[in-house]
Amino acid sequence: MTHNPNASALAMVPFVSVDNMMKLVHQIGLPTMLTGIADRIEADFKRWESFDKTPRVPSHSKEGVIELMPTSDGETYGFKYVNGHPSNMKKGLQTVTAFGLLADVDSGYPVMLSEMTLLTALRTAATSALVAKYLAPKNSTTMAMIGNGAQSEFQTIAMKTICGITHVRLYDIDPAATAKCAANLTASGLHVTQCNTGEEAMEGAQIITTCTADKQNATILTDNMVGSGVHINAIGGDCPGKTELHRDILLRSDIFVEYPEQTRIEGEIQQLDDDHAVTELWEVMLGRKQGRTSNKQITLFDSVGFAIEDFSALNYVRDQLQDTGLYQNLDMLADPDDPRDLFGMLQRAS
Ligand code: NAD
Repeated sequence: MTHNPNASALAMVPFVSVDNMMKLVHQIGLPTMLTGIADRIEADFKRWESFDKTPRVPSHSKEGVIELMPTSDGETYGFKYVNGHPSNMKKGLQTVTAFGLLADVDSGYPVMLSEMTLLTALRTAATSALVAKYLAPKNSTTMAMIGNGAQSEFQTIAMKTICGITHVRLYDIDPAATAKCAANLTASGLHVTQCNTGEEAMEGAQIITTCTADKQNATILTDNMVGSGVHINAIGGDCPGKTELHRDILLRSDIFVEYPEQTRIEGEIQQLDDDHAVTELWEVMLGRKQGRTSNKQITLFDSVGFAIEDFSALNYVRDQLQDTGLYQNLDMLADPDDPRDLFGMLQRAS
């Protein structure tokens, strides 16, 4: 109930809970939703210059980071709150949790609040596959998935749906994570192989995804593990001092990024000089810059996750709400009959 019986519908904010997000994914279907979010991200990347952009705002601590990720296209404003705590898993908690909000720029009023732990997994997977559509070798069939945690199934299903891979080779330092991922992919239609080392997982793979969580400069891939002609999708290096690839791999790769100002702080390229050449993905999508140019080339998507991807995903979800009704109205905004009489509204409520 609202505090004001005459409250306008505008004063109520639709909220998408985890429960409703799961219902939405099942109602729409995971492949359709991944494709829909990828299409939305692609369309928004193609109008890159209409967005306000800033590197996300981090608050670092010993165990992890809490970040705010804002953007606006002048009509709608969005932000995501997200954490990254690799040690959480040992305590039975998620490494990454998130929620986000959209607001109307003209009034400044929020128009939707949503869980984004699931939605982050969906948008990260959709982004990976969208980028691989531009950069991976044509007719790629096999993907190595290194790091088999919360994001991993979403990543593989998006690569199957959008890029048509048929085989996935799994590896994690924790065999229980690999077994979980393999079991979850049983009905996916993918041919799944559980591997004992990273090298084994990479055998015959044209697409190599690293998605591990460790708060250090790790070396998930060494230079000698990476042959020519592959596409690397490096997701887990997304914070200062948290990387996955040996620097020599970066020196052999053509590197593609979301927003260089953020990636130079957080991505694999924090290991390189500030002026090392990188290509912005929005320019590839618009055809202004080239993607893959030869079948010998190593392309690297140095993924860190950018605010526009969250904005696209939130807008996709918002568009689905009218038809599905999968939300609750939240009494989040004061709505006195006289906008200047906030105090009177409080008094009358006693
Ligand atoms: P998670 O904790 O659920 O899974 C991480 C997995 O990595 C675990 O199973 C762990 O055993 C494994 N691992 C750790 N070190 C490893 C190693 N050396 N070799 C192989 N496996 C190893 O985490 P998650 O939610 O799946 O997220 C994975 C990573 O992706 C995190 O670092 C997170 O910050 C990052 N992330 C990035 C984006 C983005 O947009 N780029 C989005 C979401 C998450």
